[in-house]
Amino acid sequence: MENHVKLLNAAAFAAKKHRDQRRKGNDSAPYINHPLEVAKMLASVGGVDDADVLIAAILHDTIEDTETSEDEIRELFGDRVASIVVEVTDDKSLPKQARKEKQVEHAPHLSSEAKQLKISDKISNITDVLNNAPDGWSVERRIEYVKWGERVFAGLRGENQKLDDYFLKLAENAKKQLAEIV
Ligand code: NDP
Ligand code: ZN
Repeated sequence: MENHVKLLNAAAFAAKKHRDQRRKGNDSAPYINHPLEVAKMLASVGGVDDADVLIAAILHDTIEDTETSEDEIRELFGDRVASIVVEVTDDKSLPKQARKEKQVEHAPHLSSEAKQLKISDKISNITDVLNNAPDGWSVERRIEYVKWGERVFAGLRGENQKLDDYFLKLAENAKKQLAEIV
């Protein structure tokens, strides 16, 4: 299948899977906006033009947050896409705090593709925590989120200078702006 067709198929597949979900921010954006933003970040800021990585970005929250299996992704989009998506999928059987620590521990062991995807994921989420935070989050909790993101990033950096620079600037900016609110 041609790459652009495969990419659009992934967008349609993810949109369908996430159809009943919304982001937690006060604009309650459709969930699909986030994976599309992550793929766009990889391509536009990171200069990534590897179709499998962009497709994995579009699909990155389907196994974790919807009724989607690894096999389903493998059949439709191939082994490489499936393995990248699995790499960035949290083990949902663990409690939230343990999952957060696992992300920090696992980050250095991910493939280069998964590391770049995960940095883009953190960029998208920290941007939302800054401009469109989940309802009910205090400023302290938003700052905590950025700091945890920085700990994960420490194990991900070094694969893509442009994404690294973007993350570093964003995290500094976010901490500064949030500190001014307190
Ligand atoms: P999370 O930290 O899991 O929520 C953030 C996640 O939600 C993101 O990583 C993102 O994941 C997704 N998301 C959806 N919409 C948004 C948005 N608008 N902005 C940012 N992220 C968004 O928090 P939970 O609410 O699930 O809480 C559980 C964790 O929070 C526990 O670890 C607990 O210890 C901690 N906690 C901390 C408190 C504090 O005050 N410090 C208080 C209460 C809990 P994805 O990329 O998958 O979409
Ligand atoms: Zn995500």
